[in-house]
Amino acid sequence: MITVTMLGSGSKGNAILVDGSEGSVLVDAGFGVRTLAKRFEAAGRRTDDVHGLLLTHEHVDHACGAAAACERFNWPVYATAPTLAALRVQPSGAPTQTVALASSGPTRVGGFAVDHAPVPHDAADCRALVLTDVRSGSRVGIVLDAGDVPPALPEFLDRLDLLVLEANHDEGMLEAGPYPWPLKERIRGGTGHLSNTSAASLAGRCAHKGLRGVILAHLSETNNRPALAIETVREQLRRHSWRREALVAATQRAPLAPTHSRAERRVPAPAQLDLWC
Ligand SMILES: [Zn+2]
Ligand SMILES: [Zn+2]
Repeated sequence: MITVTMLGSGSKGNAILVDGSEGSVLVDAGFGVRTLAKRFEAAGRRTDDVHGLLLTHEHVDHACGAAAACERFNWPVYATAPTLAALRVQPSGAPTQTVALASSGPTRVGGFAVDHAPVPHDAADCRALVLTDVRSGSRVGIVLDAGDVPPALPEFLDRLDLLVLEANHDEGMLEAGPYPWPLKERIRGGTGHLSNTSAASLAGRCAHKGLRGVILAHLSETNNRPALAIETVREQLRRHSWRREALVAATQRAPLAPTHSRAERRVPAPAQLDLWC
């Protein structure tokens, strides 16, 4: 079984705790180390249970806490070689323990086999990830910060049990919103972020009877609303005959209740945990 706990997600920080049969990994550390520790506490979790930190890319909202967390919690940091190189010139500094992900084929991280695929984004080497729990075979796909959906991506996300998917903005809200024109163009220009509509299309292509839950992530607090993102994606999932209730949206400010892959467990309603930090 795999369990996903969104410790927080959005343009001000991302951290996703993934539990498998043999321990946990954290995907992205876009919070300072004190906030990260508070998010673990709020979720009722211990940093000691984490085998390592896996990074999608080097942007501050995904990696600003990587070096400090590596030092304080003794987590090795896993990322592709170009992302590790980009981290070395970040103001937050380079982690001292790093492992480059294999350029082809899976890399073992704790009890997970980790595969990755490129997504278009204005970073050194942004990656979509699939973590397979080696013992149970359960799979979670994580797609954050993708300006577009490459043709090979749906096949890479084949047969997932859980999907964490960026639904950054509603196209109409972005167009009518307060952002300056160059920033709007960066967001929707193909190397920025996925709209609700693009996320819905990709979610539909990932729908199959074994998909237990979909967690929308990296929602803009200015150009999106959770209910709007959920409705847009739900409509597309229904067209692909996926009618489960386990479709939720993560938020920036607090952890989300865990989502489980196991069939017999009822996935919690999208309630949020109490402690805000
Ligand atoms: Zn981001
Ligand atoms: Zn980014």
